[in-house]
Amino acid sequence: MIEYKIKELMRPNIVRLIPYSSARSEFSGAAKVFLDANEHWRDFVGNHGRNRYPDPMHRDLKRMMSKVMSLPEDRMVLGNGSDEMIDLLFRIFCEPRKDKVLLMSPTYGAYEVFADINDVGVSHCMLKDDFSLNLANMETICHMVNNGTPETGMHKLLFICSPNNPSGNSFPLEQIESMANRFKGVTIIDEAYVDFSERESAVTLMGRCPRLVVLRTLSKAWGLANARIGITVGPKELIDAMHKVKYPYNLSGIAQEVAIEALERADDVRRYIVFMKAERARLTRSLQQFSFVQKVFPSDANFLLVRVTDPDRLCTALRERHIIIRNRSTVRGCYGCVRITVGSADENDQLLGALEELEV
Ligand code: PMP
Repeated sequence: MIEYKIKELMRPNIVRLIPYSSARSEFSGAAKVFLDANEHWRDFVGNHGRNRYPDPMHRDLKRMMSKVMSLPEDRMVLGNGSDEMIDLLFRIFCEPRKDKVLLMSPTYGAYEVFADINDVGVSHCMLKDDFSLNLANMETICHMVNNGTPETGMHKLLFICSPNNPSGNSFPLEQIESMANRFKGVTIIDEAYVDFSERESAVTLMGRCPRLVVLRTLSKAWGLANARIGITVGPKELIDAMHKVKYPYNLSGIAQEVAIEALERADDVRRYIVFMKAERARLTRSLQQFSFVQKVFPSDANFLLVRVTDPDRLCTALRERHIIIRNRSTVRGCYGCVRITVGSADENDQLLGALEELEV
């Protein structure tokens, strides 16, 4: 197998790209008078410096993340949710109408949507019935998808979501390492839900897998879905390319400040994770008692995938009681399934109460 360097897999126009140089990236030191960025001279809504452009390199936030989340500060790019990170990866690596990506399905639906937006083909390798990786197929699949070259078009990206959405299970690191080193393109491990899992992060594999990229987010365990903070950890050449391609001010100063505040409360997050796991176990046990529940799949995330006899009827009946869950029954491999987020104890009690009404 040809071992491509990460830069050889990028689109040539991105490798050649001379990025936009913003006023704030050309000068970021201390000064008295800033007349370089065509800003208003004062913030008249609150005197919080909102009249100034934010740091395009998110330095304070990255420093805090490296301390609190044990991530390498110089190997990180931050963006408007991990969704922006996924879109950037398509734009950096995939030549429209020429390259393809490989998904381990069922998985997070946005990968396919971003592929469609970027006019990039998608190959699906189905997970097994219990949503584990189909290792017996992997040899053949890697052989097939490793056809092609950057010139003729090839499978550039492999997405592995672990813990996986919507199934909730995570994959052993040995399997991820083996896939990442057999796949010729770039392997992306989406760890949006890793804080809820007992498994170690794939960041620990980066020294052994030169084309491995890890995505994280503050939207789940850190409670900041509204602030939109996504993280990419990857090889230096990729981090440099992502900084070139992203919008210069892709994270607002407000979002950066709120994220730093959340990271200062790591103890609260740890307590929430312990509580969420206990509630996840309670919800699992309680759900298994209902006659219309066929299976509650084991979860390493903050949600449960549940197979029921009539998902449409269940979702409608709960909606009538003002409780919203996600119908996943039309997703490939998820027949009969609904996805339920683990809520607060009170929210979970309301759900269970409503289900008891439906049981009779
Ligand atoms: N990855 C996965 C697996 C997700 O489930 C989600 C959101 N549901 C995201 C990424 C997007 O997260 P963000 O809010 O950081 O854009």
